[in-house]
Amino acid sequence: MELIIDNVTKKYKDKKALDCFSVKMTAGVYGLLGPNGAGKSTLIGVITGLVKQDSGSVTYIDGNGSPLCSRLGFLPQYQSFYKNYTAEEFLRYIIALKGIKVGNLKSYCHTLLETVNLADCGKKKIGAFSGGMKQRLGIAQALVGEPDVLIFDEPTAGLDPKERIRFRNLISSLGNERIVILATHIVSDIAYIAKEVMLINNGKLIDCGTQSEITSKLTGKVWEYISDSKSVIEIMNRYSVSNVISEGELCRVRLISEQKPFEKAIGVSPNLDDVCLYSFGEI
Ligand code: ADP
Repeated sequence: MELIIDNVTKKYKDKKALDCFSVKMTAGVYGLLGPNGAGKSTLIGVITGLVKQDSGSVTYIDGNGSPLCSRLGFLPQYQSFYKNYTAEEFLRYIIALKGIKVGNLKSYCHTLLETVNLADCGKKKIGAFSGGMKQRLGIAQALVGEPDVLIFDEPTAGLDPKERIRFRNLISSLGNERIVILATHIVSDIAYIAKEVMLINNGKLIDCGTQSEITSKLTGKVWEYISDSKSVIEIMNRYSVSNVISEGELCRVRLISEQKPFEKAIGVSPNLDDVCLYSFGEI
């Protein structure tokens, strides 16, 4: 299975939300990483058919010639729910909307709820759900019809750290046989699970590759330096600092610099946070 985005451009007045964006995806989890306003939601809109691009194309190829819209599952940034519906009623509603033919509706819904660890909550009203439970129900609705392409837009917004980890593990397990696109501005959402990372800024694909391919491009540019705590602000004003850890009177400062910034600075392996700071000027 392949999803090919070819030279897609989308303008809002004079602003190019997407600018000749091209990428080819196969099964696996893809992290779409970019700051706010980079063009992530617009790209997702184009893939899902909710936004019409000005030029370029989206092509989906599987062995059966299915159209993308019939093989797509989508969790939007703000999924709306009917508070008075139970989780099971909501899933039945989505199944009906998608026009999916299901043998045993009750057991189908139960399996979906089991997948997202909500098996005990099928009869509970959504109004009583926590943010994390709603998000998991959102994933369950995206899974209706066993889609081959799954898209999640900023899926961890509002989740607590434990729910984030649970979400990551679930996404990771879903990526084995599907194309999963995870749009986020939060590096840790994708750092462990993405097969490939797509870096997007100003509507352009800046880089795409495995995390080691992407991070290796910063080799020789990331440094750690032990500074006295008084000098940290000055260092932050002069350099792109990706992390500061206080160690008693001293601070371990991680920074990006083309040249060795201080005699006693030590070169360290780059990570995705460093790449974001380098590529977007922020983390
Ligand atoms: P992201 O999802 O990465 O935050 P978006 O795709 O929402 O980025 O936005 C990309 C750019 O396009 C931004 O500059 C945004 O202001 C602009 N944009 C997005 N949607 C619209 C719209 N409906 N009308 C006008 N400008 C828009």
